[in-house]
Amino acid sequence: MCGIVGYVGPRPALEVLIPGLRRLEYRGYDSAGIVVAAPGGLRVLKTPGKIQRLEERVRAEWMGTSAAGSQCGIAHTRWATHGPPTEVNAHPHTDHCGRLAIVHNGIIENYADLKRQLEARGHVFTSQTDTEVLAHLIGVLAEENDVLSAICAALRQVEGTLGVAVVHADHPDRIWVVRRGSPIVLGMGDSETIVASDAAAIVAHTNRVIYLDDDDVAIVTAGSIDVRTAQNVPVSRQVAQLDWDVHTAEKSGYEHFMLKEIFEQPEALRNAMRGRLDPATGSAKLGGLAMDPREIAQVRRVVLVACGTSLHAGMVGRLYFEDLADLPTSVEQAAEFRYRNPILSPHDLVVAISQSGETADTLAAVREARQKGAALAGICNVVGSTIARETGRGVYLHAGPEIGVASTKAFTCQVVVLLLIALKFARCRRLCREEGERIGEAIASTPDLVARVLERNDRIAAVAEKYAAARDVFFIGRGHLYPVALEGALKLKEISYAHAEGYHAAELKHGPIALLEPSVPVVALALDVPGRDKMIGNIQECRARHAPVIALATDGDSTIASMVEDVIWLPPCSPLVAPIPAAVALQLLAYHVARVRGCEIDQPRNLAKSVTVE
Ligand code: GLU
Repeated sequence: MCGIVGYVGPRPALEVLIPGLRRLEYRGYDSAGIVVAAPGGLRVLKTPGKIQRLEERVRAEWMGTSAAGSQCGIAHTRWATHGPPTEVNAHPHTDHCGRLAIVHNGIIENYADLKRQLEARGHVFTSQTDTEVLAHLIGVLAEENDVLSAICAALRQVEGTLGVAVVHADHPDRIWVVRRGSPIVLGMGDSETIVASDAAAIVAHTNRVIYLDDDDVAIVTAGSIDVRTAQNVPVSRQVAQLDWDVHTAEKSGYEHFMLKEIFEQPEALRNAMRGRLDPATGSAKLGGLAMDPREIAQVRRVVLVACGTSLHAGMVGRLYFEDLADLPTSVEQAAEFRYRNPILSPHDLVVAISQSGETADTLAAVREARQKGAALAGICNVVGSTIARETGRGVYLHAGPEIGVASTKAFTCQVVVLLLIALKFARCRRLCREEGERIGEAIASTPDLVARVLERNDRIAAVAEKYAAARDVFFIGRGHLYPVALEGALKLKEISYAHAEGYHAAELKHGPIALLEPSVPVVALALDVPGRDKMIGNIQECRARHAPVIALATDGDSTIASMVEDVIWLPPCSPLVAPIPAAVALQLLAYHVARVRGCEIDQPRNLAKSVTVE
């Protein structure tokens, strides 16, 4: 999920690797490391924190040594998924004899099984990462095969996402790379090759690149690139010309990080659910939650605490816990909760939701809940973050770093993770297996569902253009879509500065309807899910005040289409997961309104990505 850069050629590798890491810095990371092939063997340096620290150590420890002159090396910025961001967990990781080193982006799903097998053969692991297991696996296989065959054999055993680069002490003239679900680009320079997870680390050196396909393995030297399939059969891949500058490359060609992250959602959702659905039991496997069925059965109430977008995800989550698991659930604004003297007992499970895991009010709510003896869990994106550590158990989103200040992929992944937790709780309580399987299928459908919404980006952009000048906008929803109405309004105000308000559709007539007039559009979440019939009435109420209505409607719903100004069509889906495609459509709507209005989309005024103050 984070950054890889590698170099082999006539120059000292450090000259390319350190600036390359800096080019990847924009992605966010928590630690960094580097390995070069030097005459005495591999030299590894890694540090938690910033690249600056790594660079200082390189200067202090390597300058004047053969490592500084090495012409082959790989480097990494890590965004922890398995084990906190410490020096030992940072990449590169070496095999059991220290002759082979790898850097890895992604997640190895079956690492625990592989680790057990290797431990039974006497392997000792120093880190908590999944990556070290892969290093050992390739290392063992390389004892009896050449490195390429060892990598291919390892690929047959590992499940998950991999972008990998490998160096070997016996072959200081080459780098092996692998792509499976996590990008790898090869830059063909003048008698030199740069490998990277992202073109941003390459554009400064060359614009001739090869993008690997999934399950490609390549051996690169200074003057050659040999691409194979995972079965070790040679394949040819086209050379492409990059016409990107560094800034475009950072955003993979998207105009803004926010748009890139909106489009990353199918992949982010896949990562959030990967290995967590268990069709055999119709339940979810959530190791980090560390609660057995007896403990789950003892929970009497769930309290979800969060702020901002995470609070909206919590509001969706409440319905899941109540509907599926029969558990009384409340959603609490974290700042309010911490000062309100909440009533809690050991039978209450307080779940803190925070993308960064550093949100000050949510953290304080966790501490208050602990003080009062409640059980705790966290839903965070950043591994090893304070909330993740202080709750001691929970479920990571694995959504990858989120750079845009306005949260997008974290929201949809939070909703999916809440549904996974609710499913697990439900199966430990009332829900039957068949019903659990059905919910599992609905969860599994979300990446494709979102991909189908993204296909409609142009239509959403056209609607956005039509209403971009509006000063005030209302968003209305009911049931599972009510929190999405709040989230849609929040997105719009955050990045376009339009005054937007989210309301329960039924609440409109208790006040806000007084503000409706032809210049005030209403976005009505009118998907074909429970509540749609009542929503028809609410749309009529808006129309009667001459407010133009933009409906989010399910494909083919001509009744809704006939009564509104504009429709954003969404594919049909299970009501349970409808918040996800609906939220994605509203993210795009907000994005395009902000674009037309010429706003600073990735850094909206007055906002910070992670709110670490009260
Ligand atoms: N799963 C690996 C780890 O936790 C790689 C994380 C990354 O993509 O940076 O170390």
